[in-house]
Amino acid sequence: MTRIVHVNGQFLPEDQAVVSVFDRGFLMADGVYEVTSVLGGKLIDFAGHCARLARSLAELEMQNPHTDAEWLDLHRELVARNGVVDGMVYLQVTRGNPGDRDFAYPGADTRPTVVLFTQSKPGLAENPAARTGWRVISIPDLRWGRRDIKTVQLLYPSMAKMAARKAQVDDAWFVEDGAVTEGTSNNAYIVKGHRIITRHLSEDILHGITRAAVIRLAREAQMEVVERPFTIAEAKEADEAFVTSASAFVMPVVEVDGAMIGKGTPGPVVARLREIYLEEMRKSAI
Ligand code: PMP
Repeated sequence: MTRIVHVNGQFLPEDQAVVSVFDRGFLMADGVYEVTSVLGGKLIDFAGHCARLARSLAELEMQNPHTDAEWLDLHRELVARNGVVDGMVYLQVTRGNPGDRDFAYPGADTRPTVVLFTQSKPGLAENPAARTGWRVISIPDLRWGRRDIKTVQLLYPSMAKMAARKAQVDDAWFVEDGAVTEGTSNNAYIVKGHRIITRHLSEDILHGITRAAVIRLAREAQMEVVERPFTIAEAKEADEAFVTSASAFVMPVVEVDGAMIGKGTPGPVVARLREIYLEEMRKSAI
């Protein structure tokens, strides 16, 4: 089946969907994105992703081309047209095509470019990696200073992912001023003595939608969550570690820079958080 994608109001077979060579997303990475998971044909934490999209656009002084209700319709229609049961909807908004290349933002007559596509991942929530956990390496955080805006400037995270691959591990954790900021495409946590520790929100990290839900659910389950920076040395001494993202959900981390974390296998706190998160998100999916 040919995948149907959405471009600027049209649903098209993927090989017929095009964006201009002058699009600022292409020339300047002048665009933002969101990834919403789909489980059982329904959208996970959609309201959170819509709210962050609006914030990213506002931070870049870009118009939001749709209302939340319109975004929801677009997501649902794309999921239905592609028969997605489990997977993701990728959404990108760029500052559009001003017809030439210029550093200055174009005027309001340049419409944003809107692209959405689905990625089908049957059994997404049953990812076998959750049973064994990820191994990570640390790498200096050389990204720009507004990581709270979800832009499509993903070259450094891609380089970090390749460094992880070369080291034959699953991911990399960024380190700045001696502390972990986040993973290449996820938020990072350690667990020490039943206390869950994760970096506080600032411009240094992406404000993960999964992070917000996991912290809320952990606190509701009477678990203690402390939002502060932690070091790689602390991670090596931790009982458990994990990452969160819309597509990996809650993923155990069992090794950092070659050192085993805890027993080197996914621990009970992370397993419980993953269970609670998936249960609650399936319940509230729309
Ligand atoms: N940090 C970074 C750098 C990311 O790219 C992502 C995933 N987009 C996250 C954290 C996790 O965010 P979310 O839970 O909203 O997917």
